[in-house]
Amino acid sequence: MARVGATDAEALREACAGLIADYDTVGWWPAGSAFEVMVGAVLVQNTRWTNVSQAIEVLRHSDRLSPQALAQTSAAQLTTLISPAGCQRIKARRLHALADGVLQGGGLQALAGRPTADLRAEFLRWHGIGEETADAILLFAFDRPGFLADAYARRWLARRGLFEAGEGAGAYRRAKDFVDARLDWSAPEHQALHGAIVLHAQQLCRPRPLCEKCRQGIICSYKTNN
Ligand code: SF4
Repeated sequence: MARVGATDAEALREACAGLIADYDTVGWWPAGSAFEVMVGAVLVQNTRWTNVSQAIEVLRHSDRLSPQALAQTSAAQLTTLISPAGCQRIKARRLHALADGVLQGGGLQALAGRPTADLRAEFLRWHGIGEETADAILLFAFDRPGFLADAYARRWLARRGLFEAGEGAGAYRRAKDFVDARLDWSAPEHQALHGAIVLHAQQLCRPRPLCEKCRQGIICSYKTNN
């Protein structure tokens, strides 16, 4: 692994702490259980959280928010139940794989006893779980610290002049490795950071950023150069 400079790590830490300070991220991923977080992480793929929360409410009212109940729900019924989240046939298949994975892994408690790297590799073997979904589950359902290098995060890192991950398949991994090597934070700190990055990307650091309203403007490379 490349040697990490203290200044480099300090600049990243300061930028992340500054972003968290700008947003209220308390209870940012609301969920009644670890399994509900896992379900939400699958349902949120390619859609907005407002659609996901509707689908989760339907699942809750139908008593489907457990691995056993979900595994016993037919594909047709599950497709109907989660329709507010969109791509329902694809996501129903993924939710069935998720429920099967949890059950075959011995349940949530057994999974929670496994080391993070092992757990991540396990999730990545499940149908429909990519790196971003696996890391979201690790962070929010299992309280395992680690950077969630989604597209919002990579855009913010690049604009702030902290790290340019580039495009393509390896971009997620490059950004995650960069931050994880420099930010030795706890799970709650990483959860707050992810919440702040999402809120920042949605409210200000959009594809066309509203830099004039952004408190990070005075130190942002994008703002300085545009
Ligand atoms: S100044 Fe503009 S580009 Fe920089 S972080 Fe803020 S919104 Fe994003």
